[in-house]
Amino acid sequence: MKTALITGTNRGIGLELTRQLLEDGWRVHATARDPEESAELKALTFAHPDTLQLHALDVADAEAIRALSDQLAEESIDWLINNAGVYGPRGVAFGNVHDVEAWLEVFRINSIAPMLIMQAFAEQIARSEEKKIGILSSKVGSMGDNGSGGGYIYRSSKAAVNAVIKSASIDLEARGINVVALHPGWVLTDMGGPNAEITTAQSAEGLRRNMADLTEADRGRFIDIDGTTIPW
Ligand code: NDP
Repeated sequence: MKTALITGTNRGIGLELTRQLLEDGWRVHATARDPEESAELKALTFAHPDTLQLHALDVADAEAIRALSDQLAEESIDWLINNAGVYGPRGVAFGNVHDVEAWLEVFRINSIAPMLIMQAFAEQIARSEEKKIGILSSKVGSMGDNGSGGGYIYRSSKAAVNAVIKSASIDLEARGINVVALHPGWVLTDMGGPNAEITTAQSAEGLRRNMADLTEADRGRFIDIDGTTIPW
């Protein structure tokens, strides 16, 4: 039986990925800031009592990341999916970017936490069969795709995590771990908003397919939901 560890599973894409992997027969370590507050996650524990384990984890808390890794020290983790993320302040145009603390907080969650989580769980991933790390980035973090400007805080946090992913994909090659950046599409969630193009079910299906299809050749790739490559 394959095992996944997913962050930010109480709602949105993370919740749907958890649901689909469980239905597909996976074991899932589902983390969330406050799992007990999510009725959907609790319902999943009733449906999958033997294969779903919930863990409280605020990804901005470095100590909590280490503690969870210690707790799961003997585990073997086939897929680590770094999904938790925030958009931060919206609609802040050039000339109005002044909230440094808000920017740093977005960096802490979107750019730094994925690095700390990869480092904390590298052992468990290295001993698994699949050895894959997928980090939810975003097409708006792409320089090549940026034709509209703005979005300074979120864009820069995803561009930064892309740099983290690229380096980790090189550094972890010797341990057989494949690290990629995943764009989930424009998805109908709290973050994606009501005008988004695809459902969480469609996004999670695409993300699972892209993770399942990963080969050596994909190491360090920035992968769109349809499997094509996004320019850095
Ligand atoms: P949502 O806003 O619906 O959900 C975000 C999730 O991240 C929630 O579970 C939230 O938990 C969690 N989270 C935020 N901060 C923390 C934290 N400090 N610790 C733990 N969990 C945290 O977003 P989506 O599901 O849409 O997005 C998932 C990922 O996909 C993100 O990384 C996002 O940047 C990326 N993405 C999404 C797109 C879209 O169109 N939706 C497009 C491109 C990328 P809580 O309820 O506790 O806040």
